[in-house]
Amino acid sequence: MQEIKTDLVIIGAGPGGLSAALYARRAGLDFEIVEKKMAGGQIINTDSIENYPGFKESIAGFELAQNLVEHCRRFDIRVWDYFPINSIEKAKETEKGKTYSFKCQGNERLISSNALIIATGASPDRLSVEGEDKFIGRGISFCGTCDGVLYRDKEVAVVGGGDTAIEEAIFLAKFAKKVYIIHRRNELRAAEILKNRAFGNKKIEFLWCCVIEKFLGKDKLEKILLRNKNEDKTHEMKIDGVFEYVGWKPNSEPVKDLVKLDERGFIITNFKMETSMPGIFAIGDVRNTPLRQVITAVADGAVAAVYADRFLYSLDHQQSKV
Ligand code: NAP
Repeated sequence: MQEIKTDLVIIGAGPGGLSAALYARRAGLDFEIVEKKMAGGQIINTDSIENYPGFKESIAGFELAQNLVEHCRRFDIRVWDYFPINSIEKAKETEKGKTYSFKCQGNERLISSNALIIATGASPDRLSVEGEDKFIGRGISFCGTCDGVLYRDKEVAVVGGGDTAIEEAIFLAKFAKKVYIIHRRNELRAAEILKNRAFGNKKIEFLWCCVIEKFLGKDKLEKILLRNKNEDKTHEMKIDGVFEYVGWKPNSEPVKDLVKLDERGFIITNFKMETSMPGIFAIGDVRNTPLRQVITAVADGAVAAVYADRFLYSLDHQQSKV
């Protein structure tokens, strides 16, 4: 088992983690950045990003992710891709007068450090209704950008009324013959600009106050059992594919016993991105923030790196006094 010792570990290389890395480099910190999959984060699967300032014609999510990674490379920052952190322990180990507070266990390597920036993001939530497990990958998807092209000239449904659901429905309408948006209320929570685009798209039809109760089919998804909550009636509806966008679950598992979480599992932070545990910072979608956007994640990353630097400086100062 290879052991790496450093001052700071950034866990997650989405926009937040990559921004933290840039600011950590500027502060001259000794750090590592690890990513369980491929650097870039959720935006890799986003067709187009229109609200990141400076890209006036919009930018493909994948391209923005690549730009961020290349920006880091320019400052000699290398992300350890495919390096999931399975557990994090609070430890105290003194070696040549240096103390390491945290041990991050990966599959083949252990990284010890005195500060952590948790930038692990969130994963798509699921409806958790009958038949869902059976048809994931066989008609149920969580990524229109990845699977949309498979539904050319077919009829699909999108579940949810947030920004993601509406954005993806508009994207899917480029391929599909028809896109139904199934929403449990009669009002969307998506931004006005997205709502208006969806309302103006002839291929999109809204099924208000409706919920899916069952996914049905033989080898692949063929139908859904839909309940209209207003009429309290159910009916079966033929459908080729269903895309679920019903929110996100925070990827806070590795630190759940170390820091305070809110009732949904998001990490509680203050304005310095500090968690309840000194030395652990959290940024982006994994923290309990009112806004989850690329711009807020990159801002969080910058703030966390600056305060991690101050934290490490004061720790060094205390240790050198002992
Ligand atoms: P979200 O805002 O949490 O919306 C989730 C949607 O799913 C809501 O409409 C919710 O209904 C519905 N829902 C939740 N549980 C459900 C269930 N069990 N059955 C049926 N429907 C259910 O999630 P999101 O749209 O993925 O957005 C997450 C964050 O990312 C937001 O902060 C959003 O602004 C941001 N985002 C921004 C952009 C952009 O700026 N371009 C793009 C994508 C995402 P209710 O409305 O009834 O609660």
